[in-house]
Amino acid sequence: MVNTKGLIFDIQSFSVHDGPGCRTTVFMSGCPLSCRWCANPESWVKKPHIMFSELSCKYEKGCRICKDKCTKKGLSFDKENKPVLNFNICKYCTTFECAKACYQNALKVCSKEYSTEELMNILTRDSNNWRSGGGVTFSGGDPLSQSNFLLEILKKCKEKGIHTAIETTAYSKEEIFLDVMKHIDFAFIDIKHMDREKHKDKAGVYNDLIHSNITSLAKSSWKGRLVLRMPVIHGFNDNDDNILQLVKFMNFNGLVEINILPFHRLGESKWTQLGQSYDYSLEGDVSDSRLKEIQNMFLQNSIVCYIGHDTLF
Ligand code: SF4
Ligand code: SF4
Repeated sequence: MVNTKGLIFDIQSFSVHDGPGCRTTVFMSGCPLSCRWCANPESWVKKPHIMFSELSCKYEKGCRICKDKCTKKGLSFDKENKPVLNFNICKYCTTFECAKACYQNALKVCSKEYSTEELMNILTRDSNNWRSGGGVTFSGGDPLSQSNFLLEILKKCKEKGIHTAIETTAYSKEEIFLDVMKHIDFAFIDIKHMDREKHKDKAGVYNDLIHSNITSLAKSSWKGRLVLRMPVIHGFNDNDDNILQLVKFMNFNGLVEINILPFHRLGESKWTQLGQSYDYSLEGDVSDSRLKEIQNMFLQNSIVCYIGHDTLF
């Protein structure tokens, strides 16, 4: 029997915005995109890796517990006695002695391996909370990055009658994408920008595959519900031309629902904890009035548009 293991960086019970009802959201590691505003940049690396939170660190209270724990010269202390990671060394680490020593969780290993059995046990436990209409949502990262594990879990969920949802970029080989979708009841698919060059510039890949997969899904016999999702970022994708291109694409594919998400900076501290610089500290905000205007552009073209957490399930 196949026993694939999956890498997961978070599991949240009692989610109410990731699909119908009360759900368990499973955040899977790995993503083919690299959006410069990403709220979950810890998902990008598909292996356990270290994060350091200066806010949680007790160095100002004299804590030095992690000092000398690293045998690879990955950890030093600056003039203020604050721990400093050398991420060029840490990215190859597999032992994480520093994190084992830190009781404050300031040094934290992100992502953990789960077997299908371990994950199914968690879902079975949580199913008592779901009541009718709830279920599991696979998010990330992009769950399609671990399609073998995802497929195994999805089949087990369906055997147990569990409602399944996915949040995905749809950036994957068409065959894999459609195979996964066969086991999905509800999907949020991300759209970042309709222009392929602008998409590549900020999300790291061209959007052709995403669009062709959405079209293939729309033409297929899939019976699930699809809501497109777009983070609205001022100066990037909030212009009329981009919205009208998206309206055209949705009309062409017979898609009737979109969820637009106001830009937020919830991921900013994670970029710092991973030793990376964040481009959107000062930009990206979109006004409520512009969100309403965009909503109206969709509504005028027979597309239901939900703002933020207003999606009707
Ligand atoms: S053990 Fe943790 S809390 Fe203490 S100095 Fe090291 S990182 Fe900070
Ligand atoms: S993650 Fe590994 S290499 Fe980096 S400081 Fe910790 S123990 Fe050292």
